[in-house]
Amino acid sequence: MPEPDTSAIPAVGESLNGAVGIFEPGATDLIDRAARLTRLTGGGVWAEGPVYLPAEGALMYSDVRADRGMRWSEASAGRIWREPNDRTNGNTLDREGRVLHCEHGNRRIARTEPDGTRVGLVDRYQGKRLNSPNDIVVKSDGTIWFTDPPYGIVLPDEGTPAPQEQQGCFVFRFDPDRGELSVASDAIIHPNGLAFSADESLLYVSDTSAAVDGNGNHHIVVFDVIDGQHLERPRVFKVMDPGLADGLRVDERGNVWSSAADGIHVISPDGIDLARIAVPEITSNCVFGGLDGRRLFITASSSLYAIDTSVGGAGVAAGVAERARHDRG
Ligand code: MG
Repeated sequence: MPEPDTSAIPAVGESLNGAVGIFEPGATDLIDRAARLTRLTGGGVWAEGPVYLPAEGALMYSDVRADRGMRWSEASAGRIWREPNDRTNGNTLDREGRVLHCEHGNRRIARTEPDGTRVGLVDRYQGKRLNSPNDIVVKSDGTIWFTDPPYGIVLPDEGTPAPQEQQGCFVFRFDPDRGELSVASDAIIHPNGLAFSADESLLYVSDTSAAVDGNGNHHIVVFDVIDGQHLERPRVFKVMDPGLADGLRVDERGNVWSSAADGIHVISPDGIDLARIAVPEITSNCVFGGLDGRRLFITASSSLYAIDTSVGGAGVAAGVAERARHDRG
């Protein structure tokens, strides 16, 4: 895999010019050509799972391989907030603004309650343990959708090696009110990052089987969401190169912002490359946040980065942020 030029990694707190590449003229409405990429934290091993906490103006992420939960805010910079961290990977917000977690360690979905305690929501399907939930998103009806590839039970630095009990690696839908877990799709070899289109008629899911199989997939699949419950008509939306589409988000106009080895690729709903943000470390994921919702936070290997954008994110987390802004007046 071609790797980014790590000699270009700036010191924590410093910014890089020239990170933004524009391929389509209209993309300047999404991100300014002159936007600077700022390195907010460093010193980690494998940063993933960024979630913006609008009520606190803070960004939380997982260092999966160091088994730490990290937290950054303008006021307090970067710090460890939870260690060990149950090998947590993906995080997101539910409609009430609570943080949901994918734990490789307990092979479950968990939630942090307002008093700070963490409770498990689901860890089994048909009586068998999940593989290792990786990434997670909440739909506007409150259902929780997550991916369950095997990395936490096959990669010793991401969890604990163990036999796979499930028949495959599924995209799951969990209804927390009914406690019901169902398979939304079994069509992807190693489902990883996922995000709904702005109107929730589509779900984008990355397949990262190339992470453990040189001939494996490194693309994003798009599905039709049927009756808000299951996924049909999978088709390849974009082959990602270099590297993998580990995590991805959709902006309010429907464009996909996906990680790749060399940074963030911005892709139109038609699959056209609009812009790229070059990041000097292998990039895993991103999330929209910031006071106005127009700042993209990027997790990449040892670091957290941020860059201002001209659009905000779509979905439940963006709605929670909007409410927080409204409450602040
Ligand atoms: Mg992931």
